[in-house]
Amino acid sequence: MKRIPSRWLTPVLVVLALFATSCGSDEPAPGTGARGGDGGEQAQAPEHPEGSTMAAIQAAGTITVGTKFDQRLFGQTNPRTGEVEGFDVEIAELVVEAIGPEVEIDFVETPSNIREIAIEEGTVDMVVATYTINDARKERIDFAGPYYVAGQDIMVPAGNPLGIGGVDDLNGKRVCSVQGSTSITNVRELAPEAQVTEFPLYTNCADAMRDGRVDAVSTDNVILLGLVEQYGAEVFEVVGNAFTTEPYGIGIPKGDDQLRSFINDRLEEIFANGEWAAAYERTVGTVSEETPQPPAVDRY
Ligand code: GLU
Repeated sequence: MKRIPSRWLTPVLVVLALFATSCGSDEPAPGTGARGGDGGEQAQAPEHPEGSTMAAIQAAGTITVGTKFDQRLFGQTNPRTGEVEGFDVEIAELVVEAIGPEVEIDFVETPSNIREIAIEEGTVDMVVATYTINDARKERIDFAGPYYVAGQDIMVPAGNPLGIGGVDDLNGKRVCSVQGSTSITNVRELAPEAQVTEFPLYTNCADAMRDGRVDAVSTDNVILLGLVEQYGAEVFEVVGNAFTTEPYGIGIPKGDDQLRSFINDRLEEIFANGEWAAAYERTVGTVSEETPQPPAVDRY
């Protein structure tokens, strides 16, 4: 899926408006950055070390990024435009913009259970997909980041008919989570008596709970908030008792230290310049109360 990020649309419109009002003048319109190339400006191509992945991507002019297509707030296809939208998508765009302003992103749907394999096999160049950094995954791939920290929580039918208040209460209940996620591993470990149902997607779990096939859905709180937003607060609610820490990283091929530190530098840059907070506010921030402080990047 090739796309123009929605967050460029406003600057492009502003540039067009400025161009329209300054017609006839030789003065360049103010505020036209590298991306505002409508006025014939040359985009500033960053210089990357020879032989680096960044240089290769820049030369190719395209990058493949794995993300979710069904997770509201993080990566969800907008049925009107066909474009995938959310915080993960915006983070990917901000990172790729620093590799090369002209590089196009091909977003590929990458559910939880195929993230490592997609990176290992090179079907994607990176994964930005509510992807928790952990040691087991680091044996197969590397992570830049974190760029956000979530916590695992529980979603129940609105009104919480079974009175589920925390992870212990999942014992003896029918609980749904997703294959290849930390969420399902945590449920199995922390509530060993739960009857676990697993699907490839969190929307599959939400459908199962709406139809009465499961009693609870457990995964990261912000994913659950997106499901409540999508299905309605009269259908589901989040318990609000997070029991893990889930630092979200950008998955890349193992051993590409140059790419990892490039992405980490870029994350620190967008943490500092306000672009991270603006992306958060446009996405997750529409349902969560306040914008958190960005996490510290882990340069392991
Ligand atoms: N953050 C957790 C994980 O990476 C759960 C969310 C997901 O499956 O994407 O496994």
